[in-house]
Amino acid sequence: MTIQLDCPWCQDEIAFEVDETADELVCSECGIRTEFAPDPVATFGLLYDAA
Ligand SMILES: [Zn+2]
Repeated sequence: MTIQLDCPWCQDEIAFEVDETADELVCSECGIRTEFAPDPVATFGLLYDAA
């Protein structure tokens, strides 16, 4: 599963792959890994709003 997020390193909206086992998001462009936090509510909103 992927979600679109603004990557602060790429400075663009990038598809992030969701690594649910590690609770991390991985940028498909630069490969940076970021936790679901800082805002888990917003993150899960993105996950479940993406039909
Ligand atoms: Zn990136």
